[in-house]
Amino acid sequence: MSFPPALEAYVTRFGLSTATRAFLSRSHGICIDGTWSSGDERAPVVEASTGEVLTSLTLGTTADIDRAVAAARRAFDAGPWPRLKPLEREQLLGRLADLIEEHHEELAELESLDVGKPLVEARDIDVQGTIDTLRYFAGWASKVGGRSGEASSLPGSYLTYTRREPVGVIGVIVPWNFPLQTLMWKLGAALAVGCTVVVKPAELTSLSALRFAELVHEAGIPDGVVNVVTGKGSVVGAHLAGHPGIDKITFTGSTRTGHAVGTAALANWTRMTLELGGKSPVLVFDDVDLEQTVERVALGIFGNAGQVCDAGSRVYVHESIAEAFTARIAAHADRIVVGPGLDPATEMGPLVSEAQRAQVVACIEAGIAEGARLVAGGPETDGPGFFIRPTVFAGVEQSMSIVREEIFGPVLTVASFSDEEEAIRLANDSPYGLAATIYSESLSRVLRIAPRLQAGTVYVGAQSTIDPAMPFGGYKASGFGRDLGAEQLDHVTETKTVWITIDDA
Ligand code: NAD
Repeated sequence: MSFPPALEAYVTRFGLSTATRAFLSRSHGICIDGTWSSGDERAPVVEASTGEVLTSLTLGTTADIDRAVAAARRAFDAGPWPRLKPLEREQLLGRLADLIEEHHEELAELESLDVGKPLVEARDIDVQGTIDTLRYFAGWASKVGGRSGEASSLPGSYLTYTRREPVGVIGVIVPWNFPLQTLMWKLGAALAVGCTVVVKPAELTSLSALRFAELVHEAGIPDGVVNVVTGKGSVVGAHLAGHPGIDKITFTGSTRTGHAVGTAALANWTRMTLELGGKSPVLVFDDVDLEQTVERVALGIFGNAGQVCDAGSRVYVHESIAEAFTARIAAHADRIVVGPGLDPATEMGPLVSEAQRAQVVACIEAGIAEGARLVAGGPETDGPGFFIRPTVFAGVEQSMSIVREEIFGPVLTVASFSDEEEAIRLANDSPYGLAATIYSESLSRVLRIAPRLQAGTVYVGAQSTIDPAMPFGGYKASGFGRDLGAEQLDHVTETKTVWITIDDA
């Protein structure tokens, strides 16, 4: 197959594996009960670094969701998956992890083309994180169990025990910033305990989920366990969230859409996990190594072009070092190499789409209009890919929209504080509560502040360190429930208590 000329020139210049070309040349349908089908309606997939059309996707329908839910229901109620011996499930999930590893480069290339992210990040973060998460949860398949004991204080004698039962059919809706990795954040725990799933990937970035569904089949996981329906959030996503045939919905995305998803789910008493937006604060005290901290703060906001839910997007610096910090982070932002995802020299890729870039540009323009001082980057764009410069604002007020609203782009605000109390107050002054970061060499200060920050994760000395063993989720408008860690097992199981009365002889 050949791509449009500009896209062909791009992939020829930096190279693309034959496996990725072969996948892209196929017609992409939806996967229900192990069978692929294409719909009448299709949507183009646009490559972020060139703005050219890469391929096209099937726009699924509400009827497709009905069929997918029915298939997942059958696979759960009557299929082998939840009834396999735990070690058999563990082995199959391990085989799937091996297959993903075999196709590591192909999946990284797809993720780079689809999202625009630097290939090295797609390789080392997205795909490696996917493999690690799957292996971590595969191991849980044989370790999830209930407990038994005689804790009852009632008169008489009882044997009591609890069972951890898979919650059932789970609807999975994910965003576009880490498509495959976020999918695995949802699927790892769910599949390990025996649930079946209907996946709705983000319409901008569905390719890796489709390739993943092929690998699920190749691994020998039974048909109907993983179903993937591509399409519009407002159509298939909304229908899935409100579907009476699912037992749980797990959603990662914006707070606004999460509210709609949660409301639809509640109507059916559908269980839910909502991982939503953020506006995460970063506190920099005056005892830090300034150069090292600037580098880490920059990584925390410009990594993945700022399209990270827990990006440290508002920095508060002790007033004694605020000027020096601002000058250094602005200079650092100016030095970042912005370029196409496949170029090994690229440090920051384009944004995912023209619409996302327009939204980020509007936020930057609002900051300028509100009187914030632009010290790096700005609203100017470069194309035809969806490029924008790393942007830093100083002199910001807490009331400004750029400090209050999630931008989901490479835009940092810098303000100052005079003491610990003010730093904590500013950090917590947000509707969101996903993450917060402290940079300080004082252990006592860190231990004083960490419990007072309203955030699901507190990073100290670095940002966005993610491991499948550690739970992740939000306080306040950043959602509820947790992905990852042993805590996630509570969200994919129901606990049943069994009371057995022991009669006297
Ligand atoms: P989004 O809310 O626009 O879309 C997320 C998903 O929901 C997509 O698959 C979309 O198709 C679907 N969707 C859209 N409308 C829907 C509806 N009415 N009903 C059901 N589904 C619908 O978010 P996005 O722009 O794809 O992603 C960016 C957002 O995701 C940011 O707010 C970011 O902070 C958040 N996010 C959160 C986390 C976390 O772990 N907390 C992680 C990554 C991203």
